Amino acid sequence: MSYVRGLKCRECGREYPIEPIYVCEFCFGPLEVVYDYDRIKADLTIDKIRSRPTNLWRYRELLPIDGDPYVGLHAGFTPLIKADRLAKEIGVDELYIKDDTVTHPTLSFKDRVVSVALSKAKEFGFDTVACASTGNLAHSVSAQGAAGGFRRFVFIPASLEHSKIVASLAYEPNVVAVEGNYDEVNRLCSEIANKYKWAFVNINIRPFYAEGSKTQGYEIIEQLGWKAPDHVVVPCASGSLLTKIWKSFEEMHKIGILKELHTKVFAAQATGCNPIATAIKSATDVIKPVKPDTIAKSLAIGNPADGFYAKQVVYNTGGWGEDVSDQEIIDAMKLLARTEGVFAETAGGVTLASAIKLVKTGKIKREGTTVICVTGNGLKTKEALEGHVAEPFRIKPKMAFFEEILAKIGN
Ligand SMILES: *Cc1c(COP(=O)(O)O)cnc(C)c1O
Ligand SMILES: [Zn+2]
Repeated sequence: MSYVRGLKCRECGREYPIEPIYVCEFCFGPLEVVYDYDRIKADLTIDKIRSRPTNLWRYRELLPIDGDPYVGLHAGFTPLIKADRLAKEIGVDELYIKDDTVTHPTLSFKDRVVSVALSKAKEFGFDTVACASTGNLAHSVSAQGAAGGFRRFVFIPASLEHSKIVASLAYEPNVVAVEGNYDEVNRLCSEIANKYKWAFVNINIRPFYAEGSKTQGYEIIEQLGWKAPDHVVVPCASGSLLTKIWKSFEEMHKIGILKELHTKVFAAQATGCNPIATAIKSATDVIKPVKPDTIAKSLAIGNPADGFYAKQVVYNTGGWGEDVSDQEIIDAMKLLARTEGVFAETAGGVTLASAIKLVKTGKIKREGTTVICVTGNGLKTKEALEGHVAEPFRIKPKMAFFEEILAKIGN
């Protein structure tokens, strides 16, 4: 029993039935899932959501599957942390961390999109799943694909962090490391997807995959007591997560759960890969592709598929975009760990460092609630901190040696 009406071209509005397709035959615009919001409004209540298990399927009326979810029963409903120490440090009154570094099976927000993509792939009857990945997607498709009993092909840039490659290999999928950047991996995968009948989660079933990102937005609203924040800062790779967080807020408003909606949406990128932030700052609709060079490899998409739509959301909501250097990313990762005990991957450093700049320049006001989306766990990109953290005190196992240290640091 589904509330999905079909697929619709974001550009020309032409409608399509529910099939593993992603692009409009007439104008090449991307396809988007549309729902019957009147029926959802009549059926989905706060009490109903509250009565369900704490995973991302508690909002299932707003997700594009027909039957029961096939994978992802342990993904989602990550903590929303009230970050008072960090708030003081960066100069805002009320700050929250949407902490997607924990709870998910593979410790990044990609478990949201993959849960929906693979459940839909099963309904479509695929037995092989695949992806073009900047790291976290490969990890999630490898793991959740294993749990779902799929044959798996994951394609990654060969230059990815070693920890992330090992993390995928642990589940024994077919890992293909391509000598090229993500945009080249993606181009190759588009060709493969045309030739082989596989479910490429972020290519031919992208419209369904992308809907999974909305669950991060629903959770933020639920965890704020069914309210939307005043500001939300979202890291951007393809720009999809940002557009879907906004879609989730709009949907909650449309079905009457959210009484008011005036959130400003902010985009965060690394300076070494900032096509979306650049378009926002220079007030142009043209997203100029770049060659990525940043430690934030999970965000290193030089030619972002949803960049134009992300920029539109930022403009329409009165938000802004910012980008930050590798050093700022590292400093922010350490600040987040030191103040709130949250160890994020480089993408989390991008989000926090961008938020800090946005507060400094007055784009984010001190007043009101600010949510920053921290999307992946620091253990996935340990390499980034090597040489940037202190050495441990190294001693022989004797009290006297320990007390020498105490004397040195002052107790
Ligand atoms: C994929 C990813 C994002 C955002 O990706 P979009 O393509 O913009 O949806 C953000 N953070 C992390 C850690 C990711 O892996
Ligand atoms: Zn079209």
